[in-house]
Amino acid sequence: MTDPLTDPLNPLSGHYRAIIEGLGEDPDREGLRDTPKRAAKAMQFLTKGYHQTLEELVNGAVFESAMDEMVVVKDIELYSLCEHHLLPFIGKCHIAYIPQGKVLGLSKFARIIDMYARRLQIQENLTRQIAEAVAEVTGAAGVGVVIEAKHMCMMMRGVEKQNSVMKTSMMLGSFRSSQATRMEFLQLVAGGRS
Ligand code: ZN
Repeated sequence: MTDPLTDPLNPLSGHYRAIIEGLGEDPDREGLRDTPKRAAKAMQFLTKGYHQTLEELVNGAVFESAMDEMVVVKDIELYSLCEHHLLPFIGKCHIAYIPQGKVLGLSKFARIIDMYARRLQIQENLTRQIAEAVAEVTGAAGVGVVIEAKHMCMMMRGVEKQNSVMKTSMMLGSFRSSQATRMEFLQLVAGGRS
């Protein structure tokens, strides 16, 4: 397969040139001369999750373990692009799960987040996809995911609300059926803030 980041036939940079012209700018002036190419490369990087699969990404990093208490990975940085405006939304993701026989290598949580975040997204779907992926690879008794993010499409345009944070959560298995489990997770990630 051709690497989409280096494929010279990729038409994205031509489209970026047209966008720059459409904005009334001169794409041939010095500062903008290489911008279409750079912007295309950046956008391809920010959407490279389309070219990844869960199986490749986890790559065997699921380990046998007798651990059957809640495991929480907190404050994982998250960068994504909203599918309505192609503007960034940026925040934190918290993941918890209750293993039953298998645990996932720590770095893989961040990789799972990136795989789904590096696509055109809405926060609600991103939250669900991360939860379902963790459930799928670990076979956990329950999974909880919380995302808190700031959306540039709200902060830089439109209603221009600079301090609003959108919070979404997805609870699967015992996190959905047991209020005590859910509360334990939410208290652990709240970390003094509310
Ligand atoms: Zn948006």
